[in-house]
Amino acid sequence: MGHRLNNCKKALTLLNNTPHIQVLKQSTWVETKPVGFTQQKKFMNGACKIKTTLSPLKLLSTLQKIERQLGRKKTFRWGPRCIDLDILVFDHFKMNSKRLTLPHPEIKNRSFILKALKELPQ
Ligand code: AMP
Repeated sequence: MGHRLNNCKKALTLLNNTPHIQVLKQSTWVETKPVGFTQQKKFMNGACKIKTTLSPLKLLSTLQKIERQLGRKKTFRWGPRCIDLDILVFDHFKMNSKRLTLPHPEIKNRSFILKALKELPQ
């Protein structure tokens, strides 16, 4: 929702300004049709590679804090949102808990993610 590209860029700035996180590289931006709830504006997507000493769960909490700072409110699943920050991969970590699944389970279903990951080699 809102100015999608500005929201994404603000999220990157906030991420890079967070202690223990350094944004190393970002992918190109890709517009895609909405998934799930399709009666909404197209999505603006991008990925970045970061360096961090935070644990995966601490990184998730940090991303959720940034989402709230940018005005994300809880709505229905797949509903319109001003920002959605996910962890796609975290080194070679694998986990499947209630709060966090790594690698992100949707990677294989979204071609733009695969494209972005190719632009950001590990
Ligand atoms: P979302 O609607 O994308 O903000 O995510 C909803 C929930 O998915 C979050 O509250 C997380 O606890 C959970 N989740 C599970 N795996 C991941 C992941 N790899 N990255 C981000 N959120 C995740």
